[in-house]
Amino acid sequence: MNYIDPHIHMISRVTDDYEKLAHMGCVAVSEPAFWAGFDRGSAAAFHDYFRQLTEYEPKRAAQFGVRHFCWLCINAKEAENVSLSREVIAMIPEFLKAPNVLGIGEIGLNKNTANEATIFQEHLELAARHEELVLVHTPHLQDKYKGTRMILDMVKEIGRIPPERVIIDHVEEHTVGPALAAGHWVGMTLYPTTKCTPQRAADIVERYGAERICVNSAADWGVSSPSAVPAFMLEMRLRGHSEELIRRVVYDNPLAFFKQCARWKDALPDGR
Ligand SMILES: [Zn+2]
Repeated sequence: MNYIDPHIHMISRVTDDYEKLAHMGCVAVSEPAFWAGFDRGSAAAFHDYFRQLTEYEPKRAAQFGVRHFCWLCINAKEAENVSLSREVIAMIPEFLKAPNVLGIGEIGLNKNTANEATIFQEHLELAARHEELVLVHTPHLQDKYKGTRMILDMVKEIGRIPPERVIIDHVEEHTVGPALAAGHWVGMTLYPTTKCTPQRAADIVERYGAERICVNSAADWGVSSPSAVPAFMLEMRLRGHSEELIRRVVYDNPLAFFKQCARWKDALPDGR
């Protein structure tokens, strides 16, 4: 079955991973801009990073028949530096013309600080002004519930971004309900230990249904697995769920969300 990995950091992965993704049936990936594992020292470093995401990475993916999409922003961790963040935000519009850009992301909160909230809101303003989709990173572990609440409130307060144009990512059992209730799409990140396992994600689909729910690997430079989405598909199959339901979560849903992007043009390899 073809699938989409809607959150994966391919610049951190070797080319063999693209080949593996293609073998497993992955036809498209979307790569949110994120933290590089260290704080970058200048806006010029982000300029190069955005070029990598919009020019180089789509070509590397295309060698294996995988469509590469991306999201642009300064991540929540580096958003602590407000002046650098503003320089980066000012640079984003020039890249919004690139055909593989889906919107603004992964913006959000990390430690739920005032500076992070300020920059999150400024990204939302940018997205509203340019009518862009938004992909939101929610904080880890103990900060997640409070951070998710703050994020949902801020998106609502801005008011000019329809809820169905926002995906709230890294949801878990205690945050999926509020994000869906607010009208957003949600992403469950499948990590070997933290975030959701494929089993927990399958439990959540059984409890909440498949509407507006996506799963992703968020594979990056840390401990993570590009085969996480197929692992979820296997778990669902072993539980006796229909191919139609599985396909909805791993293909139809991310595609329906992406297709709201005004720049979306071509169908994926299977014509959808
Ligand atoms: Zn990420």
